Amino acid sequence: MDEQTAARPTEPAHQRVLHGLADALHRLGEYELELRTWERLDALSEGTADRSAAAACSAASLADYRSTSAWLERAKKAGAPPERLLEIRGRILSRRDHRAAVAVLRRSLDSRPTVSCLNALALLHASAGDEKAGRDAARYAFRLASPGDTADPSHWSDDRVDALVNAVLLNAVPDADQYLGPALTLRTDRADLHELWSRTTGRGQDPAHRTRRSLRSSWSGLRPGPASPAPVTGTVRGTCDPDGFRLDISLTRNGGADRVVLVINDGYTVSVRSGGDLRSWGKAAPDRSLPVVGGCSRELLTWRQGETTAHLTLRGRPRGGARFRTDLVEVDGLSAWLPVTEHVRGIRWSGVHLRPADGWELRLSEPDDGSWSPGFVMRVREDTPARNRAAAAAPAMAWFDKGMEVWSELVGPAKRPEPVVVRADSTFCYTRPGYVRIPSGMLDRPDQWPVLAHEAGHLWWGRPGQFEHEDAWIAEGLAEFTLHLLEDARPRLAYRKAALRSLGGLAAVPLAELWNTRQGPDGMAALRVKAGFFVSMLRESLGQRAFRGFLHDLLTWSQTQPLDAFTVMARASSDLIWFGEQWIHHRGTLEFDMSGSTETRGPDRYRTSIDIRTLSVFTPGAHLCVELELCSGARSRQDVRVETGRANAVFLTSSPPFRATLDPDSRWLIPEQKIIEFSDAARARRIAKEPPAHAESQ
Ligand SMILES: [Zn+2]
Repeated sequence: MDEQTAARPTEPAHQRVLHGLADALHRLGEYELELRTWERLDALSEGTADRSAAAACSAASLADYRSTSAWLERAKKAGAPPERLLEIRGRILSRRDHRAAVAVLRRSLDSRPTVSCLNALALLHASAGDEKAGRDAARYAFRLASPGDTADPSHWSDDRVDALVNAVLLNAVPDADQYLGPALTLRTDRADLHELWSRTTGRGQDPAHRTRRSLRSSWSGLRPGPASPAPVTGTVRGTCDPDGFRLDISLTRNGGADRVVLVINDGYTVSVRSGGDLRSWGKAAPDRSLPVVGGCSRELLTWRQGETTAHLTLRGRPRGGARFRTDLVEVDGLSAWLPVTEHVRGIRWSGVHLRPADGWELRLSEPDDGSWSPGFVMRVREDTPARNRAAAAAPAMAWFDKGMEVWSELVGPAKRPEPVVVRADSTFCYTRPGYVRIPSGMLDRPDQWPVLAHEAGHLWWGRPGQFEHEDAWIAEGLAEFTLHLLEDARPRLAYRKAALRSLGGLAAVPLAELWNTRQGPDGMAALRVKAGFFVSMLRESLGQRAFRGFLHDLLTWSQTQPLDAFTVMARASSDLIWFGEQWIHHRGTLEFDMSGSTETRGPDRYRTSIDIRTLSVFTPGAHLCVELELCSGARSRQDVRVETGRANAVFLTSSPPFRATLDPDSRWLIPEQKIIEFSDAARARRIAKEPPAHAESQ
C-alpha cells in the first residue's frame, strides 16, 4: 500500500485522477468499471507493478481468472514484490479453496508480513467462521499498522483503515474504536468507517440498544464497543451583535482521552489562551491562531500533561446556521456558533453566558440539562413595541394553543412558550423551550397558521423528547401528528386528505431516505406529512389505548436518552418491527382493489358484500375501515382486517347502497383513495335528488 501511495505523485494529473477513480470504484465494489479504468490507464502509460496488481485484484473479484493471471504476469514483470503476488493468489483462492488460500497467504506473510495480507487473512478466517484465527490476524495487522502519528493525514492509508475496521469489527483489539473518530475525520471517503463509527459510539448500555444492534448488524463478530469516551464539559462567556461573536470558551476534560477533535464553523478565528494545544488538520498554526475558512474546520485539541482545562477564544461571524442582519442576529443552535466534537454529544455545555450589546434584546431558550442546543434570537430597536407584536400574533397563536390542548390531554401539560415575532418575510417558524419564533410574513397568511399547531407538537417531541440524529424524523412525525389529532376533534379541518394529495410522487419514498436526502421546503414538507401518517398508522395498528401508553412511554424514555427508530418500534410492540421496516426502509405505499355486489333480500332488505384485496407489497397488517353510504343518506361502517391481502365486509341494510369508501377518514397512507359507486343505486339516488322535470315550468 505504501508503495502505491508513493507511486502516485509521479503520475501526470489526469492519470492520478484515474488512479483515484479506480481505487474508489474498488471500494464501492464496482469491479467491472474499476477494471476498465485500469485498462484505460494502462493504455495511457505502461503499467506499474502496483497498478497491475490492483487490476489483478479487481479481475479476481469478477472471477475472471484468465484476465487475473494476465495482469498478475504483468505485475510480476513490472517488479511487484513476491509477497504481493502471493497475497493476490491467496485472495483468488479464497473463493474456491479456503485451506489452500490460507496456505498461500501464510507463505506470503513468511516472506514479508504486510498489513494488507494480514487483513486478507483476518477476513478469510472470519468469513469461514474461525473467529479466533480471524481475531489473531486482525490483532497482528492492527499492531503492524499502528505505529505512527494517528493525527497525521498520511497515516490513514487504505490498509491501515482496513486494519482498524477489522480490529473493531472482529473485536480483536479492545480500544481500537477510539481511533474511529480521528480516522473518520481524515478519511471521510470511507463509508465503512462512517457506518462502524455510528454503530459503536455514543450508545448507552441499555438492553434495547443491544437488541437493536444485534438485529441490525449484518456483520458477524460485531460486539458493542466500550462506553464512549467521557465527555468534555464546556463553559462559554461572551457577547454577540451584528459584528459577530466574541467568545471565551473553557473546555475541561473529565478523565478519558487527552485529545478531542473540535468541529468549528467557518467564519471564526480561533486561538488558544492557555492550556492545551490546538492543531489544524489543514495547516500548521505556529502562532496558535487559526482562521477558519471554507466550511467547518476540524481542529485537534490536545491537553498537555497534567492539564485538564483549555481556554480558547473564538471571534467572528459563523456562517453556517447563522444569519446576521443589522437588526437581527439569529443562530439556529449551539452547533452553529460553538464548537462540537466528532462525537455528537462530546461536549456538555454547563454554562452559556451571553451578553447583548446596548439596545439589543437577547432571547436564549431555557436550556433543559445543558446538553441540548439553546437556539436564540436577538433583536434591536424594533419599530413596534413588544406588546403590539404579541397582539398581532394572537390569531395565529390560537393554532398553537389548539395544538397544545390536544397533546396536554394525551400526554400531560407543557409550559406555554412566548411568541416572538421577528421581521422576516417568510413563513419559517420554530419552537424552542421558552419561545416560538414567528416571522412577520406569516401573520398575513392565515393558510399557514396550522403550521403553528405542528410547532406546538415540538414542545413534547424534539425537545425535551429526543431522537438520534439519523432518526430525528420521528420528532417531525409526532409534531405533524398534532394536525391529525386536531382533525379528530374537528373533522372539518380536512387536513389528512389535503396532506395526502400534497405528497404526490414522494409518498413512496422511504422515510429514512426522505430524512437523509431532505432538500428544500418540498422535501421537508413531504417528510413531515409522511412521518405524521406513520404515527397515525401506528395508532391504528396499536389501538387507541396501547397507543396512549406507548406515547407516555416514549416521552419518558426520550427524555432520558435520544431514541433511535428501532428502539421506538421495539417499545411500540414486540411484533411491529416489520411495520417499521416497511415504512422506514422500503419504497412503496398501500394500494388496494375494492369491488362490491348487492342483492335484494325481500322488501327493504339489502345485502351488500365488499371485497378488498391488497395489491401492493406493503400491507397494513391491521383493521381498515369500510364505510357504506346508503341511498337514504345514512352511513354504516365496518372494520375489516386486511392482514394477508384479502378481506370481506358484509352489510345488511334497509336502504340500497350508494357508495363504499375504504379508509374514509384517511388514517392510512393510501395515495389513491378507493371508492366504488353502486351504479344503479347511484343513478336512482341522483334522479331522486334532481327536482321533477315539471317543477321548472312552475
Ligand atoms: Zn417540525
